[in-house]
Order: sequence, then C-alpha cells, then structure tokens
Amino acid sequence: MNYYSLHHKSPKTSFKNAVVQGLAKDRGIYFPDNITQLSKDFIENISDYTNHEIAYEVIKQFVGNEIPTEKLKEIIAATVSFDFPLVKVDDNIASLELFHGPTMAFKDVGAKFMAQCLEYFNQGNTEDITVLVATSGDTGGAVANGFLGAKGVNVVILYPSGKVSDIQEKQLTTLGQNITALEVDGVFDDCQEMVKTAFLDQEITKKLTSANSINVARWLPQMFYFFFAYKELHKQHKALTFSVPSGNFGNICAGVMAQKLGLPIKHFIASTNINDTVPNYLVNGIYTPKPSKTTISNAMDVGNPSNFIRIQELFNNDLETLKSAFSSYSFSDEETRKTMKKIYTNSGYVADPHGAVGYLGLKKHGLKETEFGVFLETAHPVKFLDVVEATLPVKVEIPAQIQKVINNKKVAIQAANYEDLKAFLMK
Ligand SMILES: *Cc1c(COP(=O)(O)O)cnc(C)c1O
Repeated sequence: MNYYSLHHKSPKTSFKNAVVQGLAKDRGIYFPDNITQLSKDFIENISDYTNHEIAYEVIKQFVGNEIPTEKLKEIIAATVSFDFPLVKVDDNIASLELFHGPTMAFKDVGAKFMAQCLEYFNQGNTEDITVLVATSGDTGGAVANGFLGAKGVNVVILYPSGKVSDIQEKQLTTLGQNITALEVDGVFDDCQEMVKTAFLDQEITKKLTSANSINVARWLPQMFYFFFAYKELHKQHKALTFSVPSGNFGNICAGVMAQKLGLPIKHFIASTNINDTVPNYLVNGIYTPKPSKTTISNAMDVGNPSNFIRIQELFNNDLETLKSAFSSYSFSDEETRKTMKKIYTNSGYVADPHGAVGYLGLKKHGLKETEFGVFLETAHPVKFLDVVEATLPVKVEIPAQIQKVINNKKVAIQAANYEDLKAFLMK
C-alpha cells in the first residue's frame, strides 16, 4: 500500500517508509493512497470471526505485502492481547472500555502495533533506530511498554517534570532496557519543541523517528475496537453513534476510517474539553488553532489537533458532508465533574474525566428511540486518581498492572534544555 503526504509536496511512499519516517519530508502526515471497502459478507457475519481475525481483515490492505501474513498475524495477536468490554451505563448508552491493556489507556493498542512493525522493518540493519517522543502523560507509558525489548529500537521519552501523575511517571521511568526517560525542566510544549528541534538538527546522525499518533502504524490499528464493538452490538438492530473524547483526534479518525471500510456507524461525536478548536470550526467554518489550556481531562489538552486534517480528507474536504456525519462539542471541567457524579449516582459506574466528556457528547447530541450510543472510555480511572477520588465517593483499587510498577525505582536523566537532549543523542 502506498501513502501520500497531506501537504502533497513529497512523493508517495510505502507502508514501511511511512512507519519508519513518521512524517513526510514536506512535514505533512501520511494518508493511504486507496481505501477498499470490506465485503458486505464479512460485515454481516462479523460474529463468526474472532477479534484476531477481524483485526487482520481490517488492517491487511494497509500493510499490503510488506509484512508476511504469518508475521502480521503474530503482531496482531501481541497487540490485541486483552479485552475491550462494553458496559451499559444507561438504557441506550454503553461505555467501550479501552483500558484493559498493560498501561491502562487505549494508546497501548497503537504503541504495541507500531513497535512491532518498526522492529520488523529494522531487522537486519546494523544501525539502531531511535524513537523520540514527547509526552504529557499517557503516551509515554504506552510507548515505553509497547517498545520494551524491541530489538534494534531505542526509545527516548521526554516528559515535563512535575506535570505528569505519579503513576504515569512510574510507568515511563522504571522499565530500563531500551527505554530512557528524560525529565525536562519545563512544560509539555517545551518537550515537544525539543523533539522537533532534534529532527531538524543536521549534526545528529542517529536515525530518528517519532511515535506520536501521526504515525500510520499507531493510527490505523485503532480501527480494531470499533469493529469489536459493532460485533457485540449489531444484533440490537439500532443505529450506532460513537462519541470519542478527543485531543489529537487520532482515535476518532480511526473510527471514521472504520466507517469508510463499510462499518455501519451512523454518526460520530468528537467530544472535547475547553480546547475547542474543532467544535468552533464546525460552527463557523474557520479553523483557528490556539495554545492549549489545562483541564482535568489533560490527555485532551490540545489546541491544534494533528489528525483533524485526515478527517477532512476522509470527507473529501467538504465541510457540509463532514457535518452530516460528524459533530463536535466542548465541555468545561465543571460539567465534566458534574457528569462523573451523575453517571455514578445513576448506575454506579466510575468514569474517568475523559470518558465523562465522551458521555456528555452523547447527551448533548441526543439519541432517538432507534439509536444506541457508545462512548469510548479511554483510560482507567486509576490513571486520574486525584480527580476521580476528589469527585466521587470512591476509593479506586490499584489494578495489578499498576501495582507492578508503583514500587519500582524511578530512573530519569535530567534535561534543562535542548543542549542536554543533544548531548545525550550524540553520545
Ligand atoms: C490520548 C488520550 C486521549 C485523546 O486521544 P486522541 O487520539 O489524541 O484524540 C483521550 N483520552 C485519553 C485518556 C488519552 O490518553
């Protein structure tokens, strides 16, 4: 499968190159050159397939012959290694829990898939690849875990000192092996700026790539769980609306891609916190990126979502077509807290702040008698322990995955500025 840059100034390239480079030379993100609908037969009989078989059917055209079938199936088995349960919270609304993986956030899926593709593509090369990634929290842990032990791949994670939760810090600083954490004296934007500078620095001769959600190998496997949810829900014969708590818009973009492959999804809702660039765009047709604002759903504090351009491409860059199948609403922290309480009182369900924003999107949009709503629960409440325990009368149990790292010793290299990162990369 070939991929083109959405800036249209770089040549088309293979899946392998798109994964290894991350971004095209013209700084555009990659998009598949053609998209073939899956057969009606497959969609109608989806209950006959295992989750691994579904994932293979969904992803194979995007990989083409660049990874042998057996190897691709192995990669899928290692990626889809946990459950994606649906939990009913209202008569016509369910939570799709994406947090049962090793770091308890949906990013485990994309990170594990990408790590294995990169390891496969770099085998036989004498030179290691260095993955540079900036994190505001969840990405770091998922990438550290997904890439742990990948041969020929070293990972450097930059995180803002004191700005990630204790659990998140443990998840990205305690694994060792091929994973190094750099604790940056600054905020997330400083980390991201340092990564960008490194990519443009001619003096750094190491082969660098990034592992953020613009990489096609992180984006595309996120389609899997929209199909898994459909497999569970299609027998109800109700039209499905998905609400996705959105920051960089990678997750919801995978949902739109699943629809493009023929999955019967009626409507998408991109639910955001007060970082409302996309909701505003849908209202007034003007896309105005803004600096991000801090909220209690901090994994969505993004003022210029990098994947939105892919969603526009999927709707042929036509705002009216986009608006017919896609809505976007913004919610405040106060509304989010109130909703966490309401969900808990009504059903006993503990939603994290991101999931609660997703639920709010469904409520605001409204569902008819013939419709069923699903919101994506993107992280386990334990990952946002402070907010959850301050808002709800609950004590969140620490799951085994978190217990495993919580008492391990943090190891991080201090970085005050770009020169410190550069010195580390030139070693
Ligand atoms: C990353 C993240 C999001 C945002 O996902 P995007 O694909 O960037 O829109 C939402 N919730 C949680 C918990 C996350 O970690």
